[in-house]
Amino acid sequence: MSSGGAEAFSAAFRYLGIEARPTPEGDERTYELAGKCTSGDECLPARVTIGNFLRVIEQPGFDAAKTAFFMPTAGGPCRFGQYSPFARQVMDEMGHGEVLIVSPTSADGYASLGENAGDALKLGWWGLVASDAFRKMLHIYRPYETVPGAADEAHEKSLKIFCDTLSDRSEPLGSKLDSLVGAMEQARDIFRAVPADWEREVMLVGVVGEIFCRLSTFSNEDLIRRLEPFGAQAWLSDITEWVHYTDSDNIRNLKRLGKTFSTGMLGALLKRRVQHGYERKLLKPLSGEFVGVEEPHDIQEVLDLAAQYLPVQGSHGEMVLSVGKAIYMYEKGADGIIDISPFTCMNGIVSEAVYPRVSADHGNIPIRNFYFDGTQTDLENDLGIFMELVRNYHRKKTRKRIRRNVA
Ligand code: SF4
Repeated sequence: MSSGGAEAFSAAFRYLGIEARPTPEGDERTYELAGKCTSGDECLPARVTIGNFLRVIEQPGFDAAKTAFFMPTAGGPCRFGQYSPFARQVMDEMGHGEVLIVSPTSADGYASLGENAGDALKLGWWGLVASDAFRKMLHIYRPYETVPGAADEAHEKSLKIFCDTLSDRSEPLGSKLDSLVGAMEQARDIFRAVPADWEREVMLVGVVGEIFCRLSTFSNEDLIRRLEPFGAQAWLSDITEWVHYTDSDNIRNLKRLGKTFSTGMLGALLKRRVQHGYERKLLKPLSGEFVGVEEPHDIQEVLDLAAQYLPVQGSHGEMVLSVGKAIYMYEKGADGIIDISPFTCMNGIVSEAVYPRVSADHGNIPIRNFYFDGTQTDLENDLGIFMELVRNYHRKKTRKRIRRNVA
């Protein structure tokens, strides 16, 4: 989860009376602590999350009996399902057996969230939608700001206003959504006050890839911030995309099992409808901001675009979304695509194998994989070379980008 997403999710828990806060941002100590309990074969996100859990344990006043780590889990083809048992094992081996590992999963109806599961999911969804939107606003405004730091400041302020509103326990849940829409309006006005030069020539670069690594600025060495000085605006695939994908996967599986007319299907369709409704309501105040970088109305659009290369019936996970979204972004006029993945992650490996064909079929748009394993890379140099390709493509491209009206 991104740091903004974790802030908002924590605010949702605080509304329910749980003293939640995000784990600290990663730093050198994260890798140092992770190194003591990992072999080097684990995915980078596993090392970063366990390292940050161990940093919490090091904090003054830590009390194992009053601590729980939130680490969702899932089945499926990748190693993510191992993170939660791995965290449990590390805590036990280090003598912190009292620490709870809370691992909600759709497979058991989120039973580990207890009686508050419904409210937690609703509040958490509002938080994810908003934090995705604020990050997107940050990426839109920052390349054009004329006062360095102004867009980051607007992002922080917006997130704080939203989280304070979300966690405010004096307000009944029934009226919370309207207050959050008010917070979104305030955020829009805060961003609009960022001094900006919208005449700057800036390339639009789509950023896809493995969900943790692309969203964790620590894990990806702040790739987007380092890309922007080369004259780029990033369009980063968000977290809600993944939630829509898992919902559609669930519906596809029910159909496959012959449960098209079942209570399970009814529940899945209702959930999807409600989620979309909340999303539309929360994002309405920002709709004018996202002209030219609109997200697809339905995740099926992305899956259909990927189908020729990675059919959803046979490939699972971010690789499908990365390929489909890369094509979607191409059609919206992006000038290049970056795929961020942890080193050895199968998602990046599979999509990298497919990208040459995707690029050849789509005007030769530059697509480049960037892998991260927690060691320093010559990122600036690689980004500079990539941006040369992006500018060349920009001069020749036929898919024009629609730009927002900033008059
Ligand atoms: S997506 Fe890749 S990095 Fe993430 S858990 Fe799965 S295998 Fe590991």
